[in-house]
Amino acid sequence: MYDIIIIGTGAGGSTMAYKLADSGKKILILERGDYVPVEKENWNSEEVFEKNRYTTTDLWLDKNGKSFRPGMHYNVGGNTKFYGAALFRLREEDFKEIKHYGGVSPAWPIQYEDLKEYYLEAEQLFNVHGKRGADPTEPFDSEPYPNPPLPHEPRIQEIFDELKDYGLNPFELPIGVNFTPHTTANAPYTLDRFDGFPDASERKSDAHLCALSKALEYPNVELMTHSKVIKLNTDSSGRKINEVIIEQDGEIKTVTSDIIILSAGAINSAAILLQSKNEHFPNGLANTSDQVGRNYMFHQNTALIALYTEPNPTKFGKTFGINDFYHATAKYEFPLGHIQMLGKSDEHQIKADSPIAAPGFTFELMAKHAVDFWLTSEDLPDPENRVTVENGQIKISYTDNNQKGHEFLKSELIKALKASGKFESFLFKGYYFSKGMDIASPAHQNGTTRMGLDPKSSVVDVNCKAHDLENLYIVDGGFFVSSGAVNPALTIIAMALRVGEYLKNTLLK
Ligand SMILES: Cc1cc2nc3c(=O)[nH]c(=O)nc-3n(C[C@H](O)[C@H](O)[C@H](O)COP(=O)(O)OP(=O)(O)OC[C@H]3O[C@@H](n4cnc5c(N)ncnc54)[C@H](O)[C@@H]3O)c2cc1C
Repeated sequence: MYDIIIIGTGAGGSTMAYKLADSGKKILILERGDYVPVEKENWNSEEVFEKNRYTTTDLWLDKNGKSFRPGMHYNVGGNTKFYGAALFRLREEDFKEIKHYGGVSPAWPIQYEDLKEYYLEAEQLFNVHGKRGADPTEPFDSEPYPNPPLPHEPRIQEIFDELKDYGLNPFELPIGVNFTPHTTANAPYTLDRFDGFPDASERKSDAHLCALSKALEYPNVELMTHSKVIKLNTDSSGRKINEVIIEQDGEIKTVTSDIIILSAGAINSAAILLQSKNEHFPNGLANTSDQVGRNYMFHQNTALIALYTEPNPTKFGKTFGINDFYHATAKYEFPLGHIQMLGKSDEHQIKADSPIAAPGFTFELMAKHAVDFWLTSEDLPDPENRVTVENGQIKISYTDNNQKGHEFLKSELIKALKASGKFESFLFKGYYFSKGMDIASPAHQNGTTRMGLDPKSSVVDVNCKAHDLENLYIVDGGFFVSSGAVNPALTIIAMALRVGEYLKNTLLK
């Protein structure tokens, strides 16, 4: 019998473990995957992007029942082991109702102020580098970022300056990097394989390194890998979870605890709840509202690769962002979204994402000149965009919304790049190509167990406690009420710190 069971070791689960570790309570962390092996393939983009060496082989279904292999990573550290570590706070306005081209982004039951101190703690825990005040939309904080911004490499600085001359306000991207990890030699190091790769050098601030490893230093904290949660059972009152059923290397086992923290990621947490239906919850656990799995969001995302006239020898290009179109402007009645640099692509990444088939040397040439951008627009919550489970298999029913703003965003970036005259290459027919991310790329998943004051229309309360159960907290991307247009991980980390503090001050006192 444990005091607390945490399910999942991603941004939410690992941060909860870190926050609760010094409570002295007996904590068990359940993770379905294993540690990502440290091997030379970590940095081999053919293995990572073309052969999908580290993504699950599970198949999911789309709304038409067609199966696909999702880009999900089941391992210690969850998706943060592969993320780009761009660690943004949501904007103050994101917590309020905002009109978009596609509809309304609803208000949250909490405000930015409720998360502010935890955002700062999260930035410290994840070693964020950045420049406070450089991003015109960033919420004010008198405290600086814990670390100075990462310098732009020469070609990136050139593009940064060109965009500034054009009239935009590019800013230093907040990035989580630890240049002095205690697990590897503290030698000079150049960031390189980063976005999408597991970082064998342990410089990337992922949840395993920044939070879980610290929690595991406490003797009261235990991690069980290869432990997939398949069901949560309730006691006879139907108000409390009394058993967590796990599958461990083919064997079914039961573990128990007073408090359950579900952090399996927005999609898997919804799936676990839906699979845990019983006589008290015929539609799925914690689901009297019928909202579990609904309002699934993952952003409108596009990777845009622009081809510079000169070669781009950059090793680490992910150092600036653009938020000039984050809010409505004189030109655009509604918000368009956010733009940031991506890690520098190579021929294998370009080939994996290319809309056209071409001989290898074409991709090599393109990669030599590629400048990589990532565009994100808000996805609006729609109850029909949802996660369900069919015969044990996850189904994602999703129809995109708010595409118009995203298209405007793309055209604004292309216009700005074109204005420099440096993206009109005679080498290529087009000077850029882009790929919108579909449901097989659920990197920014959120919204499936949304937060709210009314138990009839939401799954968790303002402390992430399930309305229907006394001892269930859901702390992963599921609590999002709206998606905002910046990357989600820092908000998940900050919320885990906030809920952890709440538990320490109440139930664990
Ligand atoms: C390539 C890539 C790039 C990204 N870049 C960024 C970025 O730059 N900035 C940013 O903010 N976000 C980024 N993200 C998104 C970010 O990684 C996620 O928002 C974040 O990891 C979500 O945290 P989570 O705790 O909700 O879930 P996850 O990190 O997905 O963790 C869930 C954990 O639960 C485990 N699990 C699942 N099911 C079960 C089960 N049944 N039993 C036991 N364990 C289970 C999983 O194995 C996993 O460890 C990126 C994601 C990807 C894939």
